[in-house]
Amino acid sequence: MDYIANLPPTHVLQKKDAAHHLHPFTDTQSLNAKGTRIITRAEGVYLWDSEGNKILDGMAGLWCVNVGYGRKEIIEAVHRQMQQLPYYNTFFQTSHPPAIALAEKIAKLAPGDLDYVFFAGSGSEANDTVVRMVRHYWASKGKPTKKTIISRHNAYHGSTMAGASLGGMSAMHAQGGLPIPDITHINQPYWYAEGGDMDPAEFGLARARELEQEIERLGADNVAAFIGEPIQGAGGVIIPPETYWPEIQRICREHDILLVADEVICGFGRTGHWFGSQTFGFKPDLMPIAKGLSSGYLPIGAVVMSEDVAQGFITHGGEFCHGFTYSAHPSACAAALANLEILESERLPAKVATDTGPYLAERWQTLAEHPLVGETRICGLIGALELSPDKKRRAPFEAERGTVGTICRDHCFATGLVMRHVGDTMVISPPLVISHSEVDELIEKVHRALDLTSADIALQGIK
Ligand SMILES: *Cc1c(COP(=O)(O)O)cnc(C)c1O
Repeated sequence: MDYIANLPPTHVLQKKDAAHHLHPFTDTQSLNAKGTRIITRAEGVYLWDSEGNKILDGMAGLWCVNVGYGRKEIIEAVHRQMQQLPYYNTFFQTSHPPAIALAEKIAKLAPGDLDYVFFAGSGSEANDTVVRMVRHYWASKGKPTKKTIISRHNAYHGSTMAGASLGGMSAMHAQGGLPIPDITHINQPYWYAEGGDMDPAEFGLARARELEQEIERLGADNVAAFIGEPIQGAGGVIIPPETYWPEIQRICREHDILLVADEVICGFGRTGHWFGSQTFGFKPDLMPIAKGLSSGYLPIGAVVMSEDVAQGFITHGGEFCHGFTYSAHPSACAAALANLEILESERLPAKVATDTGPYLAERWQTLAEHPLVGETRICGLIGALELSPDKKRRAPFEAERGTVGTICRDHCFATGLVMRHVGDTMVISPPLVISHSEVDELIEKVHRALDLTSADIALQGIK
């Protein structure tokens, strides 16, 4: 069936979707009652649905389409690679040109001596790899008790057993017997919701020092690594105070703990540098990456590691019994290479730092004047709005968490904008190629959605 030339009517597609397709992170029963929105094509920063509506994609898909949709360079690179060698593995003492070129390219872009790459198919697989890798690293160095990995509450590190265990999402831990052993969580650096009367700098230090307390509680001889997203994405775009990451780095170094920066969202220009760790001024030992690595054109992830970590493996580790059928998938590598060439030739990370980022920040801050907005946050092209009934107190709504966020999200969608909600926090992460006039359109649509949300909650008596 040719869905492109002969698109069936929306209601037929919705019916088939409900009959056979279970969606991720979705209450299927309530989705099926309402029907999915069918996205049929995209170009630049815009999506179109099966009813012909044009929608500004304020989320870059799922935080990943950094170079925007419809990039011929990527499409053609994949087409050529598929004709040449669509698939081969890297298990049988074999390699192939796109894997070799991509590993070299990533090593060149990654800061410092993060020069070695292990490929995976996604961010979750990259984080599963991290868990096994850091434990194997310490065991190889004769310290097999260094096993525990410290993460944060409300972190997101993927959806596989290890990824979701590293993550600190209570709703995810509640399903399927998680977390797996030897993973613990400390509090997050979320000043708006948890900072109380502290100023942000003081709060950032206090939250970082919880890592030291946790290491002392466990004993450094039992701790392998600390993992964190430079900016928590799925947790609600939580931008830590500037004091946080340098203190985390000091603690990791002092206690001989590996520092893992989950760069799956922050990597590849999102925060105005190639990597989020550069924006926040720290040096990780390992760096899981995915999403912006290929701008989502094909699935691919990887773990980038330092010379020391890699040598630990190479010299003392023997065979690392780990890998995926699609590790270094040639067509996905070709997509990633073409994507990185666009990011480089259009200087997108620098453009985010000096042009589109500052412009969006200036416009985004104007939303703070809206009566419904308790705080605006932005870093590069990733931002959040905290919805609140009382800005001064940074108060949450009395209604169940997410009630107002959902209303706002639905108004955005109806207005032609994808803006996601995390509870009552609205988040954006548009493609890095967004223009000034597209930023203006985004802000105007957010304003309209906020006005409609205010009217709705007044009418429904939500406080
Ligand atoms: C999306 C995400 C992941 C998981 O990546 P998948 O490709 O969905 O498996 C891991 N870490 C972070 C920070 C993410 O945002």
